[in-house]
Amino acid sequence: MNRLIQRFRSLSLRKKWALSSATVLFVSFTLVCCMFYIGIHSWLLNEEKSSVSRSMDDLTGFFESRGPHVTLDDIERNTGLMNSIIDKSQTVRILNNDGIEILRLNDTSEEIPDIPKTVPKTGYMIEQIKVDGENSFVATGHLQLGTFHGYLQLTHPLKSLHSLMQYLLTSMLLLGIIALIASWFISAAIASFLLQPLKRLSKDMKHVAAHQFEAPIEVKVESNDEIGGLVRVYKQMMAELESAFLQQQRFIADASHELRTPIQVLEGHLSMIQRWGKDEPDILEESLNTSIEEVQRMKLLIEELLSLARREPKDITSGIDIVAQSKEIITELKTIYENSEINLHYNENDNVVRVAISENAYRQILHNLIQNAVRYNSSIPRINIYLTFDSNNCTIVIEDNGIGMSPESLEHIFERFYRVDKARSREYGGTGLGLSIVKMLIDKYDGKLKVSSVLDEGTIFTISLPLFFLQEFS
Ligand code: ADP
Repeated sequence: MNRLIQRFRSLSLRKKWALSSATVLFVSFTLVCCMFYIGIHSWLLNEEKSSVSRSMDDLTGFFESRGPHVTLDDIERNTGLMNSIIDKSQTVRILNNDGIEILRLNDTSEEIPDIPKTVPKTGYMIEQIKVDGENSFVATGHLQLGTFHGYLQLTHPLKSLHSLMQYLLTSMLLLGIIALIASWFISAAIASFLLQPLKRLSKDMKHVAAHQFEAPIEVKVESNDEIGGLVRVYKQMMAELESAFLQQQRFIADASHELRTPIQVLEGHLSMIQRWGKDEPDILEESLNTSIEEVQRMKLLIEELLSLARREPKDITSGIDIVAQSKEIITELKTIYENSEINLHYNENDNVVRVAISENAYRQILHNLIQNAVRYNSSIPRINIYLTFDSNNCTIVIEDNGIGMSPESLEHIFERFYRVDKARSREYGGTGLGLSIVKMLIDKYDGKLKVSSVLDEGTIFTISLPLFFLQEFS
């Protein structure tokens, strides 16, 4: 059985389909045929039995109509009449008490069946036995003709019924085989028609894979069924894969380009130290300082690149107390950015609201945004952070009085390595990755991020994060 299942599994989908439908069709056909055969057989058998009963009733009626003093000789003289009562295939015998034949009408069977032991006193009994090797109905009843006492026996062979049933069975078998073959071919044709989109899909997949995502996806969606759905999912998946692939290529190109600058600077200063640094302490000091700065920049860049590349899973076990966490981060940042005003605003009643994000991620988001608010500012940085809540989300607004950004720049600020003013960003040690990391983290925790900015007035970042509900994560 296991081997059979394994062989079935190894068949192509088209063959599996054809085989299954052919089997189902054949089994249903066989069941219907069996029921039909049994029904017809018992109905015909009943008809035959009724014909035997009719003949026996007519015969006894005939004998009774002759009166109580009728003799065997009278009967022998009226055999013509009796012949018209019985069927041509039936043989009627009048037997004496010892079972010896006295009179016979028709001779469709030669064998004289034995008189059964329990013939009813009135009426007759019908049994189904073999006579001359042929299945037959035999009806036997007592017969009293004047002084003669014996038996009336009618033999009704079931030959014609059996030939009819045999004919029916052969026709059904033949029809069954024809239906099986036809259903195999029809199912195979339907299967290949229905599986055509899958074939095209697999051809397309091979083609795209061979050309490393550069070949266009050609397979077309024609139907609204499951296969159509699969093709649509494939196209969507391929589009996402292609964009991820291109993004990755661009990322590698950008990253190597960004790393090249500090390496070139480092190389320049090291050659300078090699040439003149030994004799001129000023050059040595300056070049060493710049080299250390560049190495730090590279370190930061690599750390940020790694945090972007590392696709760590969400880390939410109990959420974070957003108010307490924000207070803690802001206190820390205030010590770093001493000359800035950083204020947190929230409703005292919202003291213990938990938000579905990890402590590290929230720290990094807030740190990057506040750092930018301080960096891109030409006056004393004033940063206001507002925390508000609704039934499902927490909204964090970070508002600054910085240099702001033009609408064109706003469209790109979440792209990796994008900087509005490259020189200014570099001067402050920016890598162009801060906002990409913020966006990546907010997406990871199913949040939303919006930004609005006015040049020379300031920028507002609005973050929405889902609240933490215990049952969601239990
Ligand atoms: P960077 O490391 O250069 O700061 P970010 O990804 O953090 O990179 O920011 C991208 C660019 O967006 C920055 O170079 C800067 O020009 C602009 N920017 C980000 N935040 C602000 C802000 N609060 N005000 C003005 N400009 C900003």
